[in-house]
Amino acid sequence: MNLYYDEFILERHVRSILSRNFTEVFETSDFYNVRCNVCGDSKKDKYLKRGYLLKNKEPWVYYCHNCQVSMSVPNWMKQYFNDDYKRYMGDVIRQNKSSIMDQNKYDNIKKVKSSQERDEKEDTKHFKSILKFEDCVQFCENRKIPKEVYSKWYYSVGGLYKGRIIIPFRNNATGKIYYYQGRKFNNKIGVKYLSRYGIHNSVYNYYNVDKDKPVIILEGPIDSIFVANSVAVTGLKLKDDRLNDFKQKYFMVDNDNSGNKNAIKLLKLRKYVFNWSKFLKDHKCNRDIKDVNDFIMYNNENIDILTWDMISSYFTNNITDKIYFPVDKQKT
Ligand SMILES: [Zn+2]
Repeated sequence: MNLYYDEFILERHVRSILSRNFTEVFETSDFYNVRCNVCGDSKKDKYLKRGYLLKNKEPWVYYCHNCQVSMSVPNWMKQYFNDDYKRYMGDVIRQNKSSIMDQNKYDNIKKVKSSQERDEKEDTKHFKSILKFEDCVQFCENRKIPKEVYSKWYYSVGGLYKGRIIIPFRNNATGKIYYYQGRKFNNKIGVKYLSRYGIHNSVYNYYNVDKDKPVIILEGPIDSIFVANSVAVTGLKLKDDRLNDFKQKYFMVDNDNSGNKNAIKLLKLRKYVFNWSKFLKDHKCNRDIKDVNDFIMYNNENIDILTWDMISSYFTNNITDKIYFPVDKQKT
């Protein structure tokens, strides 16, 4: 009998493995990015993550940029998380047995990507207005997120996103939510960000910016709240095809080691990147600033939003400016 492998079953087991065995996971709709468990990844930089689970391959592929290992994700599970692999295969076989009873239905399922057919209501029925949860509201207030923004957010009291603040990605014209990201809040374990299942537009604020004007591209939705006409690409996916819809792109990556690495990559591609060192020289803060939200919280001028006029002169696409983006080699 030819086994049919449901992607949803695989995803469920993979997520379980990731949440129990990996401290930090980056996720986009196309891949998970983790510290490679095969080679152990960098010894010097405990934050470096070079292992990828590529979800857009069939079957999914595990790949590491450090040790170059490449294998199917089920094979990776079999070798390194064998108990999970056995449970996964058990589920696959159970599902095939129940499907074979209705061959027509089975053929139909086969044609549909499982992540698309997932009953999302099972996830979203647990989403409650964030305003009912004082500690979440306090978190938002501390980060100076405007109430008119966070009052439309959620907190998940159960299911897959339990204990997470849900940041909806809305099309303001229609009010429709096209994506969401669950940020770890009350749960100690699990990945920091858990996004909506399936293949969707995952660019925050995509529908709300003026595409003909300069668009600022950030890494996180919360930072995007504080920069006029900006979008956020979730994770580090700076190469989302949708970004081509913007004629004038200006990248504002985090002011830290991994941000600097990205900045240099972008400079090499002749892209405009934000020069944090110059900007912070002109806008002194009393502590280290690693991203836009930090700046909003700790600047001494009561700046609560960055407009194009305030930031435009700090972008550069000149490769000689790479000296402003020092990468700590100890951390690579
Ligand atoms: Zn590796």
